Amino acid sequence: MLEGLREQVWELNLELPKHGLVAWTSGNVSGRDFESALVVIKPSGAAYEELTPRDLVVVDLDGRVVEGDLKPSVDTATHLYIYRHRPDVGGVVHTHSPYATSFAALGRPIPVYLTAIADEFGGPIPVGAYARIGGEEIGREIIRSIGESPAILMKNHGVFTVGPTPEAAVKAAVMVEDAAKTVHLALLVGKPDLIPDEEVARAHRRYVEKYGQDPSRDEGGSHPPAGDM
Ligand SMILES: [Zn+2]
Repeated sequence: MLEGLREQVWELNLELPKHGLVAWTSGNVSGRDFESALVVIKPSGAAYEELTPRDLVVVDLDGRVVEGDLKPSVDTATHLYIYRHRPDVGGVVHTHSPYATSFAALGRPIPVYLTAIADEFGGPIPVGAYARIGGEEIGREIIRSIGESPAILMKNHGVFTVGPTPEAAVKAAVMVEDAAKTVHLALLVGKPDLIPDEEVARAHRRYVEKYGQDPSRDEGGSHPPAGDM
């Protein structure tokens, strides 16, 4: 069932440790099949290096397991809440990537200090209020606070990213950590200047219009790095 999506979500889960976004078994990627309204998600507590496409779990939007021998990720309720309330979202990622989570720990959004943040996120990376793990509380807070950003920091917890595809959500997870790292380092040595709002809007529009419509965008390597050099 959903062999293509299963394979894709499996490969994308492996991108998380590759990019240093997760420790041990934490973190997860899911992808939605729009046609069947089913979601493929990482199983709970699975070691990345032992994960196979067969281990991924297929669930419906209410969390019932449709296929799979393992239990779905403990964050499944959050992923599903997002899918139910955001029909445009085809992929969700959760990590505790350290630099982004350092801002989450403080309950601080990441201001637009870098062109990469303007390009990729179109504004500050927002932070959502503290919410308990397990039920729908986190999902509700994400939907309430994420706005049009592809990423949100959850206070005292970590990062959630969304995208039209699972690949786009993983890209956002990589980009948010990269931006957070640079901003974190900049704050150690001084006080960076904000990019003015209208310049953020212009840069974001240019980025989305220039690269967002290009079908080669997600084939890897063909799109330019975020922001200017
Ligand atoms: Zn978490």
